[in-house]
Amino acid sequence: MSPADRPAPSPGLIAALRRVVGDDHVLAASSDLLVYECDAYTLEKHAPDAVVLPGSAAEVVEVVRLCAEAGVPIIPRGAGTSLSGAVLPSEGGVVIAPTRMTRVLSVDARNGRAMVEAGCVNAWITNAVRHLGLYYAPDPSSQSACTIGGNIGTNSGGPHTLKHGVTTNHVLGFELVLPDGTVAWLGTTADGGEEPGGLDLRGAAIGSEGMFGVVTRALVRLVPAPTAFKTLLGVFETVDDASRTVGEILKAGLVPGAIEMMDQLITRAVEQAYHFGFPLDAGAVLIVELEGHPDGVARQAGTVVALCRANGAREVRVAADERERLELWKCRKRAFGAIGRLSPNYLTQDGVVPRSRLPEIMRFVAAAAEETGLRIANVFHAGDGNLHPLVLYDERDPDQVRRALLASDRILGKCLELGGSVSGEHGIGAEKISFMSRQFSPDDLEAMLWLRLAFDPDQRCNPGKMFPSGKRCGDFVPRRQASA
Ligand SMILES: Cc1cc2nc3c(=O)[nH]c(=O)nc-3n(C[C@H](O)[C@H](O)[C@H](O)COP(=O)(O)OP(=O)(O)OC[C@H]3O[C@@H](n4cnc5c(N)ncnc54)[C@H](O)[C@@H]3O)c2cc1C
Repeated sequence: MSPADRPAPSPGLIAALRRVVGDDHVLAASSDLLVYECDAYTLEKHAPDAVVLPGSAAEVVEVVRLCAEAGVPIIPRGAGTSLSGAVLPSEGGVVIAPTRMTRVLSVDARNGRAMVEAGCVNAWITNAVRHLGLYYAPDPSSQSACTIGGNIGTNSGGPHTLKHGVTTNHVLGFELVLPDGTVAWLGTTADGGEEPGGLDLRGAAIGSEGMFGVVTRALVRLVPAPTAFKTLLGVFETVDDASRTVGEILKAGLVPGAIEMMDQLITRAVEQAYHFGFPLDAGAVLIVELEGHPDGVARQAGTVVALCRANGAREVRVAADERERLELWKCRKRAFGAIGRLSPNYLTQDGVVPRSRLPEIMRFVAAAAEETGLRIANVFHAGDGNLHPLVLYDERDPDQVRRALLASDRILGKCLELGGSVSGEHGIGAEKISFMSRQFSPDDLEAMLWLRLAFDPDQRCNPGKMFPSGKRCGDFVPRRQASA
């Protein structure tokens, strides 16, 4: 069904939704819908027809069922921190946001598991189990806002992905309300039993960007908190030196918890905002965190210091205590928040390259900035080869918008050329649809689409994401192709 054929919610449907969740939890006034017209990708906007905030899984089921009967699109939404337009209501429809469902329902410390509601904020899981010496490992920089439902939607990672993996490695199972209102449990069963045999539908649904249904609760893995950390700040004259060092650390056989890079532009903005004491004249800094047993991390820290120095670091500082370590991480994780000091708008890219190509891609990013005449700040998961070039622009100037898209296009194209990918963790959303045909063959795309259709035959659940339109995926004509 094309967007034009899809019905908008009727007054009768809105009234029925109000009866299910209560008047206060259905938003339909245009002023209330404004905040839902985009996520953290602000280049495209489209308001939904209504937003429903269910308070329980039973309410989610009822809301989804009513929308299915009416043939209305539904858009599952968490905190709306997606950076790729993954919750853009491209065709209007009803946003379903279980953001009132925030509880940690149960903790099984012995087996390292917790059951949480979909609207539970990522960091709240660790807050709830810290006293048990446990934590939830995936740590997106947005973790004080983003929800477990959204993390499942985008298969989120974070600075510590390098050692601990991404969401799919830590969500054991979850309840999914399919687009027709049927309830399914995917993965390890809710009582903590073993994963059922057969196809790994849990794995297939993680990262499906809200197109397979609405997650209501999830069984997550808890892991023991490390007993010791050593967190180092390597200060480099150039991005090139810092990039080379990343490869050298990993080549030495070390697996730090995290290796993050910030270039000069972002380091200066972060310093102005949070006053950590970052050097303002450094070309780039690396944050390297080692974790594990005290003896082990002390030995590894010595190796990291030596490698940083051998690759041109002019200084390597070690966080003196836990307070300083947490301060450093606060600066890193709030780096995007400091961008407001540099520019009214920014476009965050999320390409990935093999780590050995890091120096090359960083030089390319600098050249793309030069070519387009825009500033590009870099703060990213260097250990994973997962870039986050922040292309700075002003949305009030159409030419800057065009150049920002061009810079993004160039950088993501180069990531593909170097054997990488257009997304490491933010997903495709509405933003990168046109890259799907560049990264995947029509047959690959069609296979993915068939999987999607098995969950959502009408493509009514979060439409307009990830998949090129057209009869065959290969027929897709990019909606918004950056032009040179
Ligand atoms: C400052 C900043 C830093 C960030 N840092 C990182 C980072 O380090 N690593 C990283 O991976 N990402 C990062 N992100 C991106 C974003 O935070 C993640 O993608 C996050 O997982 C989105 O969670 P959310 O609750 O905001 O979900 P939303 O943005 O609301 O939704 C994201 C996707 O999940 C789907 N979804 C949401 N809830 C449900 C549900 N209950 N059921 C089914 N589908 C659902 C949506 O349909 C959508 O496709 C960052 C974003 C910002 C703004």
